[in-house]
Amino acid sequence: MEPSKEYLRRKLSEYYDKHSVLAPPRIDQREFGAGSDKKIDFRHLAFRDENTMNTYIRTSVPLYISYSAGYYEFPDKRPMARKNWQSADLIFDLDADEYETSCDHDASMVCDICMSRVTEEAVRLVEDFLIPDFGFSKGEIISVFSGNRGYHLHIRREDAQQLSQQGRKELLDYLSSRGLEPNALGFRMEGHLRGPSTAEKGWGGKIARHLSKLIAGGDAKELAKKAGVGLPSAKRIIANKHEVINGLEQGHWDKVNVRRDSWERAFKHVAASLSVKVDQGVTMDVSRLIRLPTSIHGGTGFVACYIRNLGKFDPLKDPIVLGTSVERVKGLKDMDVRLGDETIEFRAGKEMDLPEYAAYYGCAKGLCVVE
Ligand SMILES: [Zn+2]
Repeated sequence: MEPSKEYLRRKLSEYYDKHSVLAPPRIDQREFGAGSDKKIDFRHLAFRDENTMNTYIRTSVPLYISYSAGYYEFPDKRPMARKNWQSADLIFDLDADEYETSCDHDASMVCDICMSRVTEEAVRLVEDFLIPDFGFSKGEIISVFSGNRGYHLHIRREDAQQLSQQGRKELLDYLSSRGLEPNALGFRMEGHLRGPSTAEKGWGGKIARHLSKLIAGGDAKELAKKAGVGLPSAKRIIANKHEVINGLEQGHWDKVNVRRDSWERAFKHVAASLSVKVDQGVTMDVSRLIRLPTSIHGGTGFVACYIRNLGKFDPLKDPIVLGTSVERVKGLKDMDVRLGDETIEFRAGKEMDLPEYAAYYGCAKGLCVVE
């Protein structure tokens, strides 16, 4: 085993000796997977209760431990068909590398910019879609930090657990605004152009409200860019903005002389900008293994913790659980990393004393080695 990996496992072993990992609900129906070389070196593991799971973790000390979103009659049987799948939690996975940002670091790293972006998306998924459109309550949406650069939202309500792959795909299509047609959302000529009002539920209202907000901003160039309409149309809309906004409140879309196809283009453009990007495979795959909440992500040393308030979560501080005893490390790369309240300046060849959690993070990311 490489010296760094030995160090990482020693640190995790010390942690798991003092802390227990929480069992997921109905643990005896879940399949588990564990790995140290890869995220999952082997799967088809099963535990009857929290104690046996923790004994396994303390004995094997995997760098990564995952469990199934699915519930099975026989979770340890193989091949998969013999497990007898019963249902699966509904999972949404958001990862920082899905979004365009101005960061210029390696793909394996994260920073405040990309993590804020993914946090923002997770909040939008919950507040703009899962609660108002899919009808889940706040308490039914369990937010978990993935331990590295994203979030897993788990929904364990029975009707969600019973969803087929096709049903899950329809939810994803809704989130991505795929196939959204203005006509289906009420665009029609009734003497004048009618469309969804700002008060409406679902995509129609979301788009009308967003357009209304862009128009209220009063900047024609901004409106042209963000709504995908030509500048002359945008200028006409802004010149009559109070009337147009008033019209949108009533579902009247032709308070100003703008062609119907321009409005439809704006409609689709805004829909695309409001859609949420989640990892489609994770939601669709009802046999997927995902990080076990309250276990440590071996690639960072962060705990995959439950989150009470997503908007206030600090992914580079709140999941720090390893200790602060000092470790001497030698830098391998030049990189500044914020961890907790400090920025650690890793420099190739430079020796420094770091708190254990930072030494772990640096070693796991290949930024340093422990002396
Ligand atoms: Zn970044």
